Amino acid sequence: REYTDDQYDAELGRIDQKFTPLVKLCQEQGRAMRIGTNHGSLSDRIMNRFGDTPLGMVESALEFARIARAQGYHNFKFSMKSSNPKVMIECYRLLAARLAALGEDWNYPLHLGVTEAGEGEDGRIKSAIGIGSLLCDGIGDTIRVSLTEDSPNEIAVCRDLLAQIPLLANSSVPVPELPLSYDPFHYERRPTPEVELGLDGVRCGGSQLIRVVVTRATWEKVAPKIRPSDDVRPEAVYEDLNLLEVDPREDFTVPCDTQLVTVKDGLPLPAIAAFRLLAARLRRLGLRNPILLKDCLTLEPVPLAPNIALLRASVVIGSLLCDGIGDAILVRGEAGGGQSLRLAFNILQAAGCRSFKTDYVACPSCGRTLFNLQTVTARIKSRTAHLKGVKIAIMGCIVNGPGEMADADFGYVGGAPGKINLYVGKKAVKFNIPEGEAVERLVDLIREHGKWVEPDPVTA
Ligand code: SF4
Repeated sequence: REYTDDQYDAELGRIDQKFTPLVKLCQEQGRAMRIGTNHGSLSDRIMNRFGDTPLGMVESALEFARIARAQGYHNFKFSMKSSNPKVMIECYRLLAARLAALGEDWNYPLHLGVTEAGEGEDGRIKSAIGIGSLLCDGIGDTIRVSLTEDSPNEIAVCRDLLAQIPLLANSSVPVPELPLSYDPFHYERRPTPEVELGLDGVRCGGSQLIRVVVTRATWEKVAPKIRPSDDVRPEAVYEDLNLLEVDPREDFTVPCDTQLVTVKDGLPLPAIAAFRLLAARLRRLGLRNPILLKDCLTLEPVPLAPNIALLRASVVIGSLLCDGIGDAILVRGEAGGGQSLRLAFNILQAAGCRSFKTDYVACPSCGRTLFNLQTVTARIKSRTAHLKGVKIAIMGCIVNGPGEMADADFGYVGGAPGKINLYVGKKAVKFNIPEGEAVERLVDLIREHGKWVEPDPVTA
């Protein structure tokens, strides 16, 4: 539906009437409020004017904030949630910039979260990318790591993540300031020429996939176990690369524009700042060379615990990838060979740069949830985890679930107690399926839409 200015204003007036009583109640009771918008569930009014965009999310939140402020109510904070870390980062950056432009009295706190992040390693990686990169830039006042797991698990991840931020963001030496190489409000991969990288003629840069590089030690551990059908495999060995390692604090020369470059190990700079500076320095020098990202510039004397290595690598590499920087990545903070390789691929998938396995969007569950999300998610994963490039949403209810399935290809949504609705994209196509059969009906649906492949009998 198209909205004229008058119709748009009339719609705002209607919202004012509905929302103001709640604002007054909060005011009387001394309660705080969160004004939150979610990517994928914006109103018709906002969609018409701004589209399903970060700008639409920000404008929607500001409209509600103006109503609250008109009542003299300021006890609120904002959230801008998306299951896609890139979208979420763009939204919060845009909101922070808009609030700063509106003036000091708009300095409301921001609550950060990647919604429907899922569970296990993938949920932690997605959350670390979205929340961690914003915190490293000084954006955010409260956080929630939203996992499809027992809720107390979220607290430990939040604490661990918060503990990493000063280590990843603070610099012991001044970091030179150069104009950014990227637009912080709009994702675009940094343009580079394509270059030969490593094993089996693998190339990187240009429109090539972002590649995974491993150390020789990791290569020696994992190479004997790789089977021809494996997607998770090293694509180059660090020690064999034709690589120029530089200090981005100073100008440097490169032999040609197809020379792969990275930041020199041992520099006293935080890795995110160092790689942003490298991209900015290259831009200032008029160079487009591809960049190898590293999760750390100095290896810890004692190997990091796997959960900490995962968070640090996700924040550092994930935030740079979301800035459009990086043509290949190297994870060294995780000491386990196979685990560091898998972590690198999982970061690329969570940042939306590669798809080597099924992507899941799963809600964290709440009082509305109509089935056991953890067991159902595990059941769906056990049947579908081999489907490369397919995105499946698992949502506990039809109240908010369909709106928050983002860009999932298929949806499994609680329709009523014991009954499931199945979706193709955002369209419900099967209704009230008994829960006991619903996973197999989902598989049938994926098959009908030509996205099913039989699992590899060796790994199944
Ligand atoms: S059950 Fe519904 S409202 Fe609750 S978290 Fe899941 S999708 Fe959101």
